[in-house]
Amino acid sequence: MPLTIPTHLLPNDGRFGSGPSKVRPGQVDHLVANAHVLGTSHRKAPVKDLVRRIREGVTELLGAPDGYEVALGNGGSTAFWDVATLCLVERKAQHAAFGEFGGKFAKATSRAPFLEPSQVISAEPGSVAYLEAADDVDTYATPHNETSTGAMAPVLRPSGPEGAIVLTDATSGAGALPVDLSQTDAYYFAPQKAFAADGGLWLAVLSPAAVERAARVEASGRWVPEFLSLTTAVENSRQDQTLNTPAVATLLLLADQVEWLIAQGGLEWSTKRCATSAEILYSWAEAREWATPFVRRPEERSTVVGTIDLADEIDAGQVIAELRANGVQDVFAYRKLGRNQLRVGMFPAVEPDDVAALTACVDYLVASL
Ligand SMILES: *Cc1c(COP(=O)(O)O)cnc(C)c1O
Repeated sequence: MPLTIPTHLLPNDGRFGSGPSKVRPGQVDHLVANAHVLGTSHRKAPVKDLVRRIREGVTELLGAPDGYEVALGNGGSTAFWDVATLCLVERKAQHAAFGEFGGKFAKATSRAPFLEPSQVISAEPGSVAYLEAADDVDTYATPHNETSTGAMAPVLRPSGPEGAIVLTDATSGAGALPVDLSQTDAYYFAPQKAFAADGGLWLAVLSPAAVERAARVEASGRWVPEFLSLTTAVENSRQDQTLNTPAVATLLLLADQVEWLIAQGGLEWSTKRCATSAEILYSWAEAREWATPFVRRPEERSTVVGTIDLADEIDAGQVIAELRANGVQDVFAYRKLGRNQLRVGMFPAVEPDDVAALTACVDYLVASL
C-alpha cells in the first residue's frame, strides 16, 4: 500500500526531472494556439519564422557578443559531441570530466582515430575538475553543469595557447546559469532541460573562431558525414533552417520558453529564480540529520540540478517510489551514479514554492516510513 501524502503538502506541479524536465502549461497553450504550423514545411515561412525567433531569442537571452551566431541541428547534445569531435577539434582536446556527461564527450574525442589521445582532467563525482592552460591542446571542453552529479563550474577561458577554442556543454545550464559568452566559443545545449521543451535538437552559440575552425578542419580532407558537419549546420541555420526535418512541436515549445524567459526578466531573473529553489533545497538538507548535499563545496553545488544524499537507514528508492505514487516524479539519482540519493531538477519552469513543497513531502515520508 503506498502512503498517501496529505494534499496540502503536495506541489502544484510534481515534475522535477533533470531532463526531460517540466514543460510549462503556457508552452502547451502556445503549441495549441499555433497548431496550424504543425504539419507544414520547414522550408517555408511559418516554420522558418519559428527558427528565427529561437535564434534571435537565444542571442538576446544569453547576451551573445557581436559576431556570435546560433546554429542548430537534429540529434541533441549527444550528436553535438560527434559534430565537435569531427569539426572542431583539430589535433588534441583537453577535457574536464567530473561526471557522466563530461566523461562521454572525453571518450568521444579519445576514440577518434584522427586525433591525438585527449588530455582528461578528472575529478570525483560530486566535485569539479577545472580546465588548465596547456600548450599542446587546441580545444578545451567542459560541462557548465554536470547533470549526472549536480556540480556546476563557471565558464572561463584558459589563458592559452593562442587560437585554442573552448567548448561548453551547457545542456542543463543554458538559460539558467550566469554566463559571459566571450569566455567560450561553442556554448551548446538541447531544449529539454532549462528550456522545458522536448529533446532531439542541439543548439550552439558559436564564436567566429569556432565557425572558422570548423571551416578549416572540414576543408582539411578529414571525412565528415554531412549530418555531422558544423559548417553545413551553420549554413542552414543562417537561413533559419535545419539540414533535415526538425520536430516542429519542439520548436514551438522552445520558442515560447525563450520568449517567456526574456519577458520575465531574462537570464538574470532566471538565474535568481533557480538559485532561490536551490537555496530552499540545500538549506533544507543541511537542517536534516539524514540528508546531505552530495556536492561538498557550496560554490560547486548546482543551482539547477540538486543532489541530496540520504542516510543509509533511509531507502532513497522507496522514498522516490512513494513520491511517484503521489504524483511527484523523477527525483531519482543518475542511474550510473548508484547513490542513495535524490536528484531534483530546479530549472526556471519549476516554481520555487514547489521545491519547498517537495521537501515537505520528503519529510512526511521519512517520518512515516
Ligand atoms: C542531458 C545532457 C546531455 C545529453 O543530451 P541529449 O540531448 O539527450 O543528447 C549532455 N550533456 C549534459 C550536461 C546533459 O545534461
